[in-house]
Amino acid sequence: MAQLGNPTNTIEVLKKYQFNFQKRYGQNFLIDSHILEKIIEAAEVTKDDCVLEIGPGIGTMTQYLAEHAREVIAVEIDKSLIPILEDTLSAYDNVTVINEDILKVDIAALAAERNGGRPIKVVANLPYYITTPIIMGLFESHVPLSSITIMVQKEVADRMQSGPGTKDYGALSLAVQYYAKPEVMLNVSPGCFIPRPNVGSAVIRLARYEKNPVSVKDEEYLFALIRAAFNQRRKTLVNSLVNAKNLKAEKEEVLSALEKLSLSPMIRGEALTLEQFAALSDFLCKKGD
Ligand code: SAM
Repeated sequence: MAQLGNPTNTIEVLKKYQFNFQKRYGQNFLIDSHILEKIIEAAEVTKDDCVLEIGPGIGTMTQYLAEHAREVIAVEIDKSLIPILEDTLSAYDNVTVINEDILKVDIAALAAERNGGRPIKVVANLPYYITTPIIMGLFESHVPLSSITIMVQKEVADRMQSGPGTKDYGALSLAVQYYAKPEVMLNVSPGCFIPRPNVGSAVIRLARYEKNPVSVKDEEYLFALIRAAFNQRRKTLVNSLVNAKNLKAEKEEVLSALEKLSLSPMIRGEALTLEQFAALSDFLCKKGD
């Protein structure tokens, strides 16, 4: 099977198997070898690595990964792609394809089984409709991983690496930055895919911290607090938190916590750093008191 990552061979495979694109699965296949090489380079894949690829499609990036990694595990939801993958990946004995919804896979168990619990790397051109649940699932389920290098919608990449006071800053920025150091590696235009997506794309690398930059009494409470703070962006932080019943935060308590942190009672969530959210979370959380 010829190498994919160019329009001619991609169209030939699609025709051979009379493949119908499924819009609901966010199928946009890469057809630019230059971009594929840059992704592999950004992910720093070596022959020591066990790589998880989410959504291999017809196996384009999988071929590149198989050349560079020790082992590749590729999870694809669309069963009509499985016979195609058997064909396009027939030259490689270090690839395992799993026909499953990534959100239902126990990735921690997979990493334990395939990599002895050592950190894996995730490399993927993600289906954009589930970018956030995939990333949060990887972090929150404490899968041992060293980095996640992914193609996402450009706007989502911007959100992940934004800081306080910017319009893109929000719950996703804070959640990602709690676990990893984000770095946008390259922008990718719609012309690099078949079919062309309606949005610009970017490759972002999230390098997992060995130790999180802040520590809190209760992680779950911190994330509930962050979500509440951005739920009603135009409201003051005090009102947003008091309105969120699951936080069980009284107005007086929130005001006094803000005072202790030398923050204005009129401040909005979008102005707080991760460190300030962590401190506020420990003030308000009743766990362990
Ligand atoms: N990696 C290929 C490439 O770069 O050409 C295809 C990328 S395409 C943007 C996203 C892929 O993810 C599709 O093959 C799609 O079928 C698959 N996919 C969508 N939802 C999925 C899910 N929940 N679990 C696993 N794969 C999924």
